[in-house]
Amino acid sequence: MTQPHVLLVGETRFPFHSLDEMGPHIEDALGETTVITSTTDRSALTDLSAYDIVVDYLTDSALTDEQRAGLFSFIESGGGYLGLHCAADLTSQPDGDGSVTPREEPLPELRAFLGGHFLGHPEQAEFGVEIVEREHPIIDGVSDFRVFDEPYKLAHDEDVEVLAWMDHEELDRYPVVWTKTHGAGRICYASLGHTPEALEQPSYRRLLRNAVGWLAEQ
Ligand SMILES: [Zn+2]
Repeated sequence: MTQPHVLLVGETRFPFHSLDEMGPHIEDALGETTVITSTTDRSALTDLSAYDIVVDYLTDSALTDEQRAGLFSFIESGGGYLGLHCAADLTSQPDGDGSVTPREEPLPELRAFLGGHFLGHPEQAEFGVEIVEREHPIIDGVSDFRVFDEPYKLAHDEDVEVLAWMDHEELDRYPVVWTKTHGAGRICYASLGHTPEALEQPSYRRLLRNAVGWLAEQ
């Protein structure tokens, strides 16, 4: 197939998950066969006609009605969505002081779209990732692996397809990668991606590149 065109949306408002810092690691992880446009301008979501996939690395996930409508109609008509790490944080919003303060409830439209949301995380640590859906194209060539990252505790809907689970000594079993559909489009969420180490982990790279291929295959 032709090279997938990807719009990577992130932000630089917080000392963590900064697109300036993490964007190059994400781009590197997604691979050179992908054409990536990186932006902090959410208004890019209102016209996605030049892209095959949106990669979401937003911490504050708030979108205007127009931006959300642009994203949803793109996916409904066959576009692909890859939510990385903080994309599942649907409660954090800026506190005006460079950090975040939580909303009471996850943003409802995005919660339904994504099929799950971020609950919290303990310290960064090394933990295992257990692959369960070995026949899925996203898992092609990927075995269980270990990674150093921020372990995300996540709620998820019963009807998402979980491809990989966290195996952390002190935590319950939380999903690490899941997929679902939205209209004619495909969604993949992958919770790793706070640290450069995670994005350099070879098995995770393979998984992300497979995900890009699967999401673009429409
Ligand atoms: Zn993080």
